[in-house]
Amino acid sequence: QAKDRGRNNFQVFSPVMDRQLKERVAIEASLRAALESQTQLDVHYQPLIDIETRRVVTLEALVRWKHPIDGYVSPTRFIPVAEETGLIAGLGDFVIKRVIDDMVQWRKGGSTVLVPVAINISPGQLSRCDLRQRIAELTQVNSISPAMLQIELTEGAMFDQVESRHGSNGGEDGVDAINDLRALGVRVAIDDFGTGYSSLSYLKRWRVDYLKIDRSFIRDLGTDSNDHAIVGAIIAMAQHLKIKVIAEGVEGWSQLEMLRKLGCRYAQGYLFAEPAPASKCRDFLNGRPLGLNGDDTDLLKVV
Ligand code: C2E
Ligand code: MG
Ligand code: MG
Ligand code: MG
Repeated sequence: QAKDRGRNNFQVFSPVMDRQLKERVAIEASLRAALESQTQLDVHYQPLIDIETRRVVTLEALVRWKHPIDGYVSPTRFIPVAEETGLIAGLGDFVIKRVIDDMVQWRKGGSTVLVPVAINISPGQLSRCDLRQRIAELTQVNSISPAMLQIELTEGAMFDQVESRHGSNGGEDGVDAINDLRALGVRVAIDDFGTGYSSLSYLKRWRVDYLKIDRSFIRDLGTDSNDHAIVGAIIAMAQHLKIKVIAEGVEGWSQLEMLRKLGCRYAQGYLFAEPAPASKCRDFLNGRPLGLNGDDTDLLKVV
């Protein structure tokens, strides 16, 4: 073991690492400033649709950060930094509050909000903060049903929960963030399914409502027979477990047709709609079928 540790510690400090480290430090500092000012941060929403009816079933909330000099920074760059530095607690809280605010504004604007909003939750948010309490509070104060909220957890986050419940700290500690949230009425989706720890035990342990197949399996669905087999198997498994399946990152008609053939009911992707600011979400809220981007052939109606 000591030998392993020794070996892992022996690293070459390369110019690339130097640059990466500097970037991370810079992101941390400016994200901290952004959280204080809050004017650089926003939340956009992307619909998840029922392929058969084209109705929006959920809106996914996606945080946006516009750096005063660098412009938009991708969440794939700053979320990991936020997770490692603990800034995720403040950022996560900002997102939840903003989502609730936006729902209140939609309602005030006369929209009947019929679709739940899905919020991405990082592992640290589940274990460190009392998410259930926070959501219970905010929904009650604003007269929003907790059933109008959904959380998206990656397999890593589910795995962390298994660890924290049954890990070194003496096993069952009575804290089960996921079940607590479900008891409140909040729905749960597993995000980026297929890319995390390939342990399926959490599907036994927790009832989840949705499983989102990661974009990497969807991208080449039309041409890659391995992807086809994997996606088909996930859909079949989910059907047995009575979990709804959403395909992420659907950009083209061929992918959509393939998904239909495989029996996938729900999808999300640029083919349907890109993430949009709250002020542009009116058409997503009313439960009416969505028009499609690009050529509106009648492909969706073909059986
Ligand atoms: P995710 O949860 O898997 O979100 C879906 C991502 O795919 C979003 O990227 C969305 O814009 C993008 N996307 C949607 N349709 C398509 C498509 O057809 N093609 C392609 N190429 N991409 C598509 P985004 O907004 O950059 O977010 C990236 C990731 O950052 C998210 O992946 C999520 O893991 C994380 N994230 C975003 N917002 C939050 C947040 O508020 N809290 C936390 N903890 N994580 C967040
Ligand atoms: Mg997500
Ligand atoms: Mg995802
Ligand atoms: Mg993803």
